[in-house]
This record gives sequence, C-alpha cells and structure tokens, in this order.
Amino acid sequence: MGPDRFFKGIGMAFKRHQINRRVIDDLKNRSTIGMYFYMAVTIGVLCVDGFYKRHVLFSTVFLILMLLIAVFRISHYYLFDKMDKKYSRLNYGAFFTSVYATSLTWGMGFAYFMVQPEELSSKIIMLASTVGLNSGGVVAFIPSWRTSALYTVIMLMPAAVMMFYLGVYVTLGFLIILFIIYMMMIAFRGNREYWDALENEHLLKLKSDEIERISRVDVLTGLYNRRYFDEIFNIEWKSAGRNNTLLIIIIADIDYFKPINDIYGHLAGDAYLKKISELFAATFKRQTDFVARYGGEEFVFLLNDIDKDAAIALAEEVRYKTENMTLSHYNHRIQATISMGISACIPQTDDQKDHLFEKADKALYQAKNRGRNRVVFYDDGDKE
Ligand code: GH3
Ligand code: MG
Ligand code: MG
Repeated sequence: MGPDRFFKGIGMAFKRHQINRRVIDDLKNRSTIGMYFYMAVTIGVLCVDGFYKRHVLFSTVFLILMLLIAVFRISHYYLFDKMDKKYSRLNYGAFFTSVYATSLTWGMGFAYFMVQPEELSSKIIMLASTVGLNSGGVVAFIPSWRTSALYTVIMLMPAAVMMFYLGVYVTLGFLIILFIIYMMMIAFRGNREYWDALENEHLLKLKSDEIERISRVDVLTGLYNRRYFDEIFNIEWKSAGRNNTLLIIIIADIDYFKPINDIYGHLAGDAYLKKISELFAATFKRQTDFVARYGGEEFVFLLNDIDKDAAIALAEEVRYKTENMTLSHYNHRIQATISMGISACIPQTDDQKDHLFEKADKALYQAKNRGRNRVVFYDDGDKE
C-alpha cells in the first residue's frame, strides 16, 4: 500500500454555513440548558402579583405548552445520538421545530401579557424575562444565523405587531423592532466569528495531518520511511500475534549500487531509486502490504496473512521485474538487480520481533554471498 492511497481521505472540503453534525451538536449543546431557565421564568412571570389567578386559562395553557416543549427538548437532547443513527432527517427536523415552537409559544405569551389593560409589574417582569431569554437564545443559535434570526423574529414580532395594531405602548413596540435588528446584527457577527473559528480548526487539522504524513514519508521515493516502518512493524506484530497469523518480512538491497552512482552520477542513482520504488509499490499492492525505504538503497516489505510460498513468489516477481527494468538516463540505459532476504514467524513473544528482522537480514547477506540477484528464505538449519 503506497502513501497516496493511505492518505486519500484527508483533503475533505470545508464549507461555511453548511449545517453538519458538528454544527447541530453545537446548537443543541448551547441551547438546551436554556430550557431550564424557560421553565423557571415561566413559573416566575405567572406568579407575579397573582397573575395566574386572574388569567387561569391562559396561564394553564402557557405553562403546559412551555413544560411540554422543555421536556421534549431536554429528552430529545439525551436521545439525539440514538435517533440520529436511524432517522437523522427526522431528528434534525424535531430539533428545529421544537426550537421555533419555544419561541412561538413564548412570543404569543409575551404578546398576550403586553396588551393586557392593567398589571404593569407583570408586564415589566415579562418584558425583562423576554429580553433575557431572547438574547440568550440568539447567542446560543449563533452557529446558524438563520436559526438565530428566525428565533428572535418569531418570539418578538407578535408582540410588536399587536402593540401597533391595538395602539398600546407603540414606542415600546418600536423599541422591540430595534431590538430585533440589534439581535440580528449580533447573530451575524457571532456567526462570522463562529465559522472563522471552525474554519481555522479545520485548516489546523489539515496542516497537522499533512505534517504527520510528511513525517512518515521518504522525500525522494515517496515510500514510507524507516521511522514509520518501526511504528507499523510494532502494530502488525501485535495484530499478527493476536490473530495467530504469519508475519513476513522481506529486506531488499540493490546489488552493486555504488558503482551506478560512481559511473552515472548521484542524480542517476536517485532516479533509479525512484523508479524501483514505483515498481515495489505496484507489486506489493494489497491493502495490508507495507513498503518502506529502510535506508539508502535498502527497502523493507512487511506482509501479513500470506503464506511463505506466496511471499517467496512475490519476492521472485519483484526480483525478475527489477532485472528487466531499465532506467533511461540521458544517453545511458541503467539496469541493476536486487537481492532479498525473507523471514517469517507467527509472533509469540516480543523478543522475537528483533529476531525476525535479524533473520531476514541474515538471509539477505546469504543472498549476496551466493552471487546476488536472488531471494533467500531464512532457514533456521542453514548456518551459512
Ligand atoms: P551490494 O549491496 O551489492 O553489496 O553493493 P552496493 O554497492 O550496493 O553496496 P552498498 O549496499 O553498501 O551500497 C550503498 C550505496 O548506496 C552507497 C551510496 O552510494 C548509495 N546510496 C545510498 N543512499 C543513496 C541515495 O539516497 N541516493 C543515491 N544516489 N545513492 C545512495
Ligand atoms: Mg546497502
Ligand atoms: Mg547494495
């Protein structure tokens, strides 16, 4: 598996104002706490000067509606994740509907209070509570400016319209309109800041993913580097141990590479390393194959869930392809061969881990000694 395939998921797009799961989570986390205030304030305003005694029907309906919505919103908050798995559209719909139901119910109650002929103190309490709850809601819904704006309009407009229509407290009605505009400006500004922060968070994540990717990849060949090989080797070792499967390591070293540098120059050597790396990545292409540049012109392949014969066959294929690969460099045609050492084991104890690598290295040494351009599987009985 080459680095490109491994990291293909990273470049996901960021879109401002796109209501995704993260934004919904923010909206509900920021706003649900307010429902406890709604319940407390509802009971408070209805009790001022014994208002509920004079408006029994209204008070009962208002209290029941507010309690129902609050109970729904709070329980929905806890059920959100469960519902989201199966009915995500319904889930989002339920959230927004209940938000607007809160503001509409409160808005109707507010309008009713404000146009009553007497009871100035309950009006003042109601007005103050409404301003407080409304601004709290607008700030809570800032991740979505539409929700903020709609929420404030739905809650305050009915009262303003009633005041103008009935000609009571017209100046106050005018101030309420100004307040709506002011709240919308706060919503817009807060919304911009919210999305700026989200965008920065996204860019930071991209950057740190990019840094992590760079730290894993060898610059010249684009294969994984030794540092990342060590990390993956540990992980694969544990996983093969758990699953009781064979873990196979192949170490490859280019034969007589130094002369290539000496004759054709270092740049030609680099170009050859790049080309042979492509060949390796194209041959060990299973999702679970891991190819790394271990050192200068040494490479390591880690294979799991594959038997010994299949691994040897793959190594032979790579050896054969390398032998037949030509790099055209200016007027030269550069060819080389590789030697490979293979070892395999089913991981049991951790100290075998270094052994596995050493055994592959020994097998490579044997391959070199036996004339190069060959594959040697490490055999415990073989003491060469
Ligand atoms: P053999 O392995 O068959 O014994 O002979 P060799 O000539 O390949 O010997 P060795 O493996 O010791 O050679 C390593 C050479 O690889 C030394 C160095 O010139 C070259 N080399 C290592 N890293 C790079 C690199 O990044 N670019 C280039 N162009 N050459 C490199
Ligand atoms: Mg070497
Ligand atoms: Mg070599």
